[in-house]
Amino acid sequence: MAFECPLCNSYTAIQLACSTCGTNLLDQGREADYYDDYSPYESIESVRMADGYSVDAKEHECPHVLACPSCMKSDVYLIEEWMI
Ligand SMILES: [Zn+2]
Ligand SMILES: [Zn+2]
Repeated sequence: MAFECPLCNSYTAIQLACSTCGTNLLDQGREADYYDDYSPYESIESVRMADGYSVDAKEHECPHVLACPSCMKSDVYLIEEWMI
């Protein structure tokens, strides 16, 4: 049994809409790559993938930076890892 991030492993595409304009957000990669430029935990939100595994996954979440290509706004979201 293992937990793997569906985005890091390309199991699924991110399907979240920008709260401002409704454009689909784009995965910009793992949040760890952005530490230099961002204060990543200011606006953190927990995200459940539509068909993800519903477990208590607090320790099995992968922070990703998602950006809106229209607003150029980016935020950090916790992506639930899947039990494989
Ligand atoms: Zn990931
Ligand atoms: Zn937007």
